[in-house]
Amino acid sequence: MAGKVYLETFGCQMNELDSELVTGQLRALGYRFTPDAHQADVVLYNTCSVREHAEQKVWSRLGELAIRKATDPGLVVGVLGCMAEREGGALMKRMPVVDLMVGPAELDKLPALLDNALRTRASLLADGRVLGEAGEGGVRRLTSAGQVALAGSSSRRSSTLAAAGDQLEMLDLSRAVSPDDHSGSAYVRITRGCNKFCTYCVVPHTRGAEVHRPPEHIVDECKRLADAGVVEVTLLGQTVNHYRFEHGAQVSVGGVVQPQKGRVYKRTDEHTDAYAGQNVTTFAGLLRRIHEEVPGILRLRFVTSYPRSFGNDVLEVIRASPRVCRYLHVPAQSGSDRLLSMMNRGYSVGEYLEFLDRARAFLHEPELGRPLTVAGDIIVGFPSETEADHEATKALLLRTRYKNCFIFKYSSRPGTVAHEKLADDVPEDVKRRRNGELLEVQNRVSAEVSAEYLGREVTAFVQGVSRREQKKTKRAESLAKAVAVNGAGIGAVALTISASARGDVRARAAEVAGDGADACSVHGAHTEADAGVSAGPVQMSARTDGDLIVLFDAHAGDAAGMIGQIVRVRIESTTALALHGAMAGQG
Ligand code: SF4
Repeated sequence: MAGKVYLETFGCQMNELDSELVTGQLRALGYRFTPDAHQADVVLYNTCSVREHAEQKVWSRLGELAIRKATDPGLVVGVLGCMAEREGGALMKRMPVVDLMVGPAELDKLPALLDNALRTRASLLADGRVLGEAGEGGVRRLTSAGQVALAGSSSRRSSTLAAAGDQLEMLDLSRAVSPDDHSGSAYVRITRGCNKFCTYCVVPHTRGAEVHRPPEHIVDECKRLADAGVVEVTLLGQTVNHYRFEHGAQVSVGGVVQPQKGRVYKRTDEHTDAYAGQNVTTFAGLLRRIHEEVPGILRLRFVTSYPRSFGNDVLEVIRASPRVCRYLHVPAQSGSDRLLSMMNRGYSVGEYLEFLDRARAFLHEPELGRPLTVAGDIIVGFPSETEADHEATKALLLRTRYKNCFIFKYSSRPGTVAHEKLADDVPEDVKRRRNGELLEVQNRVSAEVSAEYLGREVTAFVQGVSRREQKKTKRAESLAKAVAVNGAGIGAVALTISASARGDVRARAAEVAGDGADACSVHGAHTEADAGVSAGPVQMSARTDGDLIVLFDAHAGDAAGMIGQIVRVRIESTTALALHGAMAGQG
């Protein structure tokens, strides 16, 4: 029983990839997707628990759906991902509007659960049981019949994977790869879960222990993506550089090599991999294999790196592989050793800086047009953070010279060690002030890093039209609709923009009649028509090898064909946020 699905994704790239896989799986079963939740029979939220803010958004969306469901009782609502795992049955009790919940470790079961929920709802509707009693504020409380929660199962992966047969691996392996489903760029998962247990983080609790996918599966997925026209692949893992697969210990179930639990990470000394050459595929080996065996991937990236145990072997492979991007996202989280220890990060500020210096010594070659860029994460207002700790973090930002840094105010997450043991004692106004100060420092550094590109020519992967252009398009669409409503009638050549699973933007010229809503079928997409698009240039957004944003103008007629391509842009001005330039040719 298939319906029209709206899927909204919150949080990290891992969630975006999960949504993409779920979308492919449901599409193959006949489900259609709509970018408008109001048009959907099924509303799914793929949630994130890392920060409180994302969860609050989901609660608010569910509240709105509860009101809608009072008059649309056939609606099926599902919560996927980390929030489903963390909240478990409590979420359904608080929000009876939710029909099904599926944690990240059980996503392979979604199609069966969804089909079941749709059938249950249809049969309850048929015999009139679904309307239930009028609840508070006149909102009907739905019967809980048919509610299904699959959560609390991340521990499944701590049992022998081979015995269970890893169905999540099948979800990755069954990925639908079609030239129409991407905008030249894709994520590929190499590990799931995390063994680090940083005291503030829910990920090890919601996604479970670290599991590494067989290298053959990863390389094959990259090949299939390249065959379908993908030119940029980002390898994903919570601690991506810890990837390793021991071939001697591999187990197959039904002919399928199973993912492997992460083992204790050993190095013979600080920078040498103890396993290298011992029938083990290390992260360095995996990068090298993809680079050599999939030449169609013109840009190979990876996130997120853990600052400890990042060996020279990986740096050497990056240096020797022109298609591996010289970009590292390596969260530091704090400039204070005391706080790093309380966070259980396992390194000191000195060790973090030693790694950055080593990486730059290997990879920063601006004179050859191959600079290394680095991005970081910082948590501000962690329990007990003093002014001295805060000043140490400011100093770290000046020293690290990130091209950008994701700065987050600490929020205590239930289920974590910090939530249980540490008082969230930095007042909100102090967190806000420190956050602002760190942003100011980082903005200055980002502006300086950007300015180094002034007058240079860079190659950049075109992701889509810029945000500014999207806003303009939206305004034009409203105007066009208003004109149509007033009887003028518009059937114009328009730029239809749809955000892909990863949040990139894809544009294609389309003949739009009416509001153009049917032209877009990618989940979570926006459909926008710009009746005036042929009148002037379109501002495009692209990314350098080092992940800097590049903005440049293109002819409206060329814009759609450029997306997913690599172009050369001469940089004419810079800001902290972006490089601005003019196109100088194809990359
Ligand atoms: S390394 Fe730490 S912060 Fe990152 S996912 Fe693992 S536990 Fe969370």
